Amino acid sequence: MSAANRTPVTVLGLGPMGQALARAFLAAGHPTTVWNRTASKADRLVADGAILAPTAADAALAGDLAVICVIDAGAVRSIVEQAADALRGRTLVNLTADTPERARELAAWAGEHGIDYLPGAIMTPTSSIGNEAASILYSGPEELFRRHRPALAALDASATYLGADPGRAAAHEVALLDLFWSSVSGLMHAYALARAENITAGELAPFAKGIGDLIPIMIDEFASHIDSGEYPGDESTTVSTLAGVEHVIEASEARGIDTAALTAIRASVQRVIDSGHGEDSIARLSDALRVAVPAG
Ligand code: NDP
Repeated sequence: MSAANRTPVTVLGLGPMGQALARAFLAAGHPTTVWNRTASKADRLVADGAILAPTAADAALAGDLAVICVIDAGAVRSIVEQAADALRGRTLVNLTADTPERARELAAWAGEHGIDYLPGAIMTPTSSIGNEAASILYSGPEELFRRHRPALAALDASATYLGADPGRAAAHEVALLDLFWSSVSGLMHAYALARAENITAGELAPFAKGIGDLIPIMIDEFASHIDSGEYPGDESTTVSTLAGVEHVIEASEARGIDTAALTAIRASVQRVIDSGHGEDSIARLSDALRVAVPAG
C-alpha cells in the first residue's frame, strides 16, 4: 500500500506513549487525527501533519480505526463513554495498561455499545514504537486483529496475537511487569546495600550486569521445571537459597537498609522448605507464592 492510500487512524490520548503512536502512524503515511484531554500536547504532532479534533467523539469519526492509550482503564472509560455513539460500528484498539479483569470489563462494555474492540499491551518503551524494537501484544477477536494488522504494523510490524480472551494481552503484561518491577526494585536495593558498604553504584554495575546475564538462562530452565512439575535441585537447592537470602537480610539490617521485600521472599522460600521440598530447585517458589485461591 502506498502512503497515498493509507487508512485514516485516530489516536486518543497524547501522553509520551500516545504521542509516539501518533508519530509512528504519521511516519507511515496514515492520515492521523488526534485528541487529548490537554489539547496543547498535540502541538508538535499538528506541526508534523496530524489533525487535532475538538472532542474524542469528533476524533473517532475521522476513520474506522481508533487507538486509545491513556493512564488506566478508568481514564479510557471516561473518554470512550463520551464517544460511544461515534465509536459504534468502528474499531477501538485499547493500548492502555491495566488488569486482565478491567480489559474484560471494557470488552463487555464495548460489545454492549456495538463497538468492535481489540485490546493490546505495549511491552517496550516509546522509542521502540514504529521500529523493529517494538513489541505489542493483542488479544480478542482474531478477525479484528487480521483486519487492522496492516495499519497496526505502523506501530509494530511483528505484532503478536495471543488468543480470543480479551484479558490475555493484559495478563501477559501484568506478569511481565511483575518481572520488570521486581527486578528494578531488586537492583535499587542492591545499589542501596552496596553504597552503604562504600561501593559506588558505578563500581557495582559491571558485576550487576553479570547477574543480569544469568536471568535469561534461568527464564528457560525454570519455565521447563514449572511446566513439567519437576524441580531437580542438582545445581542449587531451596535450602541453599534460604541461606543466601538470610545473608542479604542480615547485611541490610546491619546497614539500616529496608528488608521488607527480602523478608517476604524469605517467608515464601521457608514455605517451600516447610512443605518438604527443600532439596528441590527454587523454581518451586512459583507454587508456594499462590497463597490463596480467589473466590468465584
Ligand atoms: P501516562 O500513563 O501518564 O498517560 C498519560 C495520558 O493519560 C495523557 O493522555 C493524559 O491526558 C491521559 N489521562 C490521564 N488521566 C486522565 C483522565 N482522568 N481522563 C482522561 N485522560 C487522562 O503516560 P504514557 O503515555 O507514557 O502511557 C500511556 C499508557 O501506555 C499507560 O497505560 C502506560 O502504562 C503504557 N505504556 C507506556 C510506556 C512508556 O514508555 N511511556 C511503555 C509501555 C506502556 P493529559 O495529557 O490531559 O493529562
